[in-house]
Amino acid sequence: MRFVIIGGGPAGVQAATQAVKLGAHVTLIEKDVLGGAANLWDCVPSKAMIATGAVLTENRRSRGMGLLSDGLRPDLDEIRERIESITIRLAHSTSELLASQGVTVIRGVGRFLDEHTVVAECDDGTTVEIEADCVLLSTGSRPRIPDWADVDGDRILITRQAYPPKEIPEHLIVIGSGVTGVEFVHMFRCFGSKVSLVVSRQQVLPQKDPEVAAVLESDFLDSGVRLYKGAKAVSIERSGNEVTVTCDDGRIIRGSHVLLAIGSIPNSEGLNLQAAGVRTDKSGYIPVNHHCVSNVEHIYAAGDLSGKLPLASVASTQGRKVAEHAMGLDSLEHRHLDYDKAASAIFTEPEIADVGLAEADAFALGRKIRVTKVPFATNPRALISGDPRGFVKIVSDPATGVVLGGSIVGHNASELISVIALAVTAHLKVDDIYESLLVHPALAEALAEAAD
Ligand SMILES: Cc1cc2nc3c(=O)[nH]c(=O)nc-3n(C[C@H](O)[C@H](O)[C@H](O)COP(=O)(O)OP(=O)(O)OC[C@H]3O[C@@H](n4cnc5c(N)ncnc54)[C@H](O)[C@@H]3O)c2cc1C
Repeated sequence: MRFVIIGGGPAGVQAATQAVKLGAHVTLIEKDVLGGAANLWDCVPSKAMIATGAVLTENRRSRGMGLLSDGLRPDLDEIRERIESITIRLAHSTSELLASQGVTVIRGVGRFLDEHTVVAECDDGTTVEIEADCVLLSTGSRPRIPDWADVDGDRILITRQAYPPKEIPEHLIVIGSGVTGVEFVHMFRCFGSKVSLVVSRQQVLPQKDPEVAAVLESDFLDSGVRLYKGAKAVSIERSGNEVTVTCDDGRIIRGSHVLLAIGSIPNSEGLNLQAAGVRTDKSGYIPVNHHCVSNVEHIYAAGDLSGKLPLASVASTQGRKVAEHAMGLDSLEHRHLDYDKAASAIFTEPEIADVGLAEADAFALGRKIRVTKVPFATNPRALISGDPRGFVKIVSDPATGVVLGGSIVGHNASELISVIALAVTAHLKVDDIYESLLVHPALAEALAEAAD
């Protein structure tokens, strides 16, 4: 089996390693950095910036912990170097892994010549033609820039230009209140910027449980973040060191910098998809079935390009499933990827994480559920560590006790949600969580309490 992969992000890399294990001859074409945008622009640098911001926040909290603080200031060059070194280290270990497994990696830009031939325009100026029995397209996505925004990389920024920007913004206006937008609000308030957030609906995180979003909103407001709700930005003007954002309801916000976080667009246009007969939807995503197969039987799309859940974790699982399907291992029902069971997290402080059925969605569906909620305010570990914000919420089936979903707001929610994610995937019951002998003192004890 000659398996060709275009795009070496989480989807492409995972597909490559799995396919080669199953006996395929794998060629992976990557034009930039192995590990993909996830490593270079998205997950890794954003969480590295947030980690630095968290140290600053912790330092500010030190008086409450009985310590005297002499203050810390960000060193932007060192932050930039730190992020680069993490990215390089991850790309290097991915490269070594692929080499050790026998994956052929071509540095260059891939596209179709016809449905069984892929061409790579290599970094060294040469062109390679590769015959393929199967092709995976995993070229990811990039930030959407609306035509009314003149991004200059200086004061009008997309996320990729903010790791870190040339200076810490005095007043940052973030446009877009989805996961990326709120993470950047959090990141820059930690660095001491005044932050305003343009929220096109009436709730930040419009896709999330309103109770969860409310905790974040009130935390933002408490820390001085200004929310412009029900407002869509329609223009950005820059005059010297000032930027002005005008909203469709006439409101005007003045600041020092603007950051756009209004979604992504797929990297599908350079792939010469017509030559292979692969169809896209009107936004450029490649529609796929539950095996990530496109409209052409031997051509798959995975990761952000497939238009499913834009998460690195989902991309890599899709990549693994693609390899298994291509190599004929898909016969078992349980091997299908269930996007409704994907855990996700928002790396604000407090962190927010959820998985499975949300309470609000269950009500909208008219489905009977049992909801139990336990605040961290009474959890010994939360009190000891000085951050008792947030709660654990478990959604279960009242008839069987099977765990259907859950949300966690609080310190380390992104780690704690794994317990509920496992329960949802393995159809465990609330009793299974309740009967587990957990560590004391631990935040996870709130999970057992919520399961009680
Ligand atoms: C700011 C931000 C933060 C995020 N944080 C998280 C997070 O914390 N957790 C999480 O799970 N998800 C996060 N995401 C989402 C995550 O980054 C994406 O879902 C993930 O990167 C998608 O992986 P992928 O394999 O589809 O593609 P990508 O990671 O985008 O990789 C695609 C690769 O294809 C290459 N490529 C493109 N075209 C070609 C071509 N023609 N030839 C050769 N190579 C090509 C690119 O260079 C790139 O390396 C974040 C997103 C953003 C914007």
